[in-house]
Amino acid sequence: MQIYYVNGSFKHKFNALISVEDRGFNFSDGVYEVIGFKNKKLLNFKKHMKRLKSSLLNLRIKSPYKNFKSLELIIFRLIEINKLDSGFIYLQITRGNAKRDHLFPPDVTPNVVIFAFPKKKLSNLSSGVKVGLSEDIRWTRCDVKSISLLPNLLEKQKAYENGCFEIWQMRNNFITEGSTSNAFIIDKSGNVLTHPKNNLILGGVTRDTLIELAKKNKVRVCEEPFSINDIKKCKEAFLTSTTVGVIPVTQVNDIKINSKKIGEITTFLTEKYENFLNLQIK
Ligand code: PMP
Repeated sequence: MQIYYVNGSFKHKFNALISVEDRGFNFSDGVYEVIGFKNKKLLNFKKHMKRLKSSLLNLRIKSPYKNFKSLELIIFRLIEINKLDSGFIYLQITRGNAKRDHLFPPDVTPNVVIFAFPKKKLSNLSSGVKVGLSEDIRWTRCDVKSISLLPNLLEKQKAYENGCFEIWQMRNNFITEGSTSNAFIIDKSGNVLTHPKNNLILGGVTRDTLIELAKKNKVRVCEEPFSINDIKKCKEAFLTSTTVGVIPVTQVNDIKINSKKIGEITTFLTEKYENFLNLQIK
């Protein structure tokens, strides 16, 4: 993971440099994606590109790519050069370099940085994690995968300091999502509940994949917000993201879920999700 891609060249990390006038550096004026790869194959690439396109459009950043084929080739080359087999790709596109001014600079060229990183060795997430709850203080365009992540960082740090893996965010007593993942519960009738995809959450690629797989396997999904009261009555809970996959949630604040045992539906959906990823690497 020593070689980074920066604006058309592959550079050793010590020489992989960006201008101090980068608008990402000065204003967080940029977007990003995190994409998994296994056996050198990219996972859910189309879904990630669809979201990237939408984030760029929403921030009115010119896409450096007409179609995403050339980007895919760059990523394959990066994986090859770094001699990696599996891990994650971090891809960042900012509006470009310009003298510091809030107004969009005319005719600016976006900066593109791509690097690969391995899966973190996190102890025993699959046996279930605890999450906390907090007021969602983020802006109301959480659907844009912007590099401006300060509230998310504060919440993730709070989670860590409180012995939690994640903090679920709430607006008007309804859970939106986690600081780095999407949030789900399963009610007593076996329905999967998760916040609808709108401006208040990031439409996770893992979330969307999991919903598709659940529906295909006759598990009912209700894309409806759920409250603390619903958590108190639920029989299972889990969270999803590209980097951790599907992780059972066995405690929310002081609420123990299913006596902290991992539920059947969560196990079933995790298996379906992993099989689906494995199909893409054949
Ligand atoms: N919500 C937020 C706020 C996130 O940061 C992430 C991870 N980037 C997710 C949800 C999950 O998205 P994905 O499944 O695409 O990784």
